[in-house]
Amino acid sequence: MLESKYGLGTDEMVPIKYQSLWWRDLTRVCREGGDEGWFQGEVVWKVGSGDKVRFWEDVWVGSSNLKTVYPRLFSLSLNQGHKVEQVEGWEGSTWRWTLSWRRGRFEWEKLMETELGALISRVNIKKDEKDVLEWRTETTGLFTVRSAYECLAPKSRDPLDAVFKDLWEAKTFPSVLMTAWRVLLNRIPTRSCLRRRGVILDTVDCVMCEIKEESCQHLFFECKFACYVWNLCLRWFGILYVPHNEGKNHFESFCLPQGSIKQNKIWKGIWATIVWSLWEHRNSIVFNQSAADEEEVFQKVQLKSWLWLKHKGYRFVYSFSDWVMNPMVCISSYK
Ligand SMILES: [Zn+2]
Repeated sequence: MLESKYGLGTDEMVPIKYQSLWWRDLTRVCREGGDEGWFQGEVVWKVGSGDKVRFWEDVWVGSSNLKTVYPRLFSLSLNQGHKVEQVEGWEGSTWRWTLSWRRGRFEWEKLMETELGALISRVNIKKDEKDVLEWRTETTGLFTVRSAYECLAPKSRDPLDAVFKDLWEAKTFPSVLMTAWRVLLNRIPTRSCLRRRGVILDTVDCVMCEIKEESCQHLFFECKFACYVWNLCLRWFGILYVPHNEGKNHFESFCLPQGSIKQNKIWKGIWATIVWSLWEHRNSIVFNQSAADEEEVFQKVQLKSWLWLKHKGYRFVYSFSDWVMNPMVCISSYK
């Protein structure tokens, strides 16, 4: 009876005027906390045949929905609102994913699409099983009032969502954001990562220091080469502190304490530009046998960030030498 009256999926609710008072109250409480509400944040889909789960909007692979992790691809997708089973289908006994897009993708968007492909290919679509909702705060997957109470007090959203939101709002070039995003997800092909994927390498030593293993965390946040570059950039803005050595914490703590929201978006853009410049420099050492040079990376950060402000920034009138000499003054027009 409940099933016929209220439906089973999240988008199959009966219109509000036919709902009982207690049901209206219940749904209102569940939707508190922004977006789709805290309740939706605690349930996760276990995909069977993909008959109920919405591809972009529901949480079914990883801990966030795909539209949060890949907002750029979501905005280009013609599959918004589609169920998983509508994002292609069976070829004999093999499941094939085919996403449809509004237009061709740029190179950096294609990389993102490959990432998405790798992520969803981990999920096994099962022809004869229905999609079921699981309550993720209980290991049994079954809802309990006690665990719901614990979720509500104190309530906090998935911190990962906030990190990605800040990153995609950062002011810099999309290709720079793309690299930074891959670093935050630990999906950048460092030597250590390649070896984990089964690629045979002579060495997994860090290209910069040649001492430690070249993991994502080491290369960008722990290596003495990277730390030196971060320091140069912080000193350029007149900031002194010791950054975290873990990517997401490093990104989150990288802020201008006295800065406005807009200024901090530029500052987060500089964070992404530093990460991008480190990766570019590392690649030119590996592929072009360049020499490791901290100053060169730092100057690249200054130039790349200035280019963005000059061409994309709102009424940015400062010359490159102004930017190099006094960056805080240059961004003070962004209130
Ligand atoms: Zn190193």
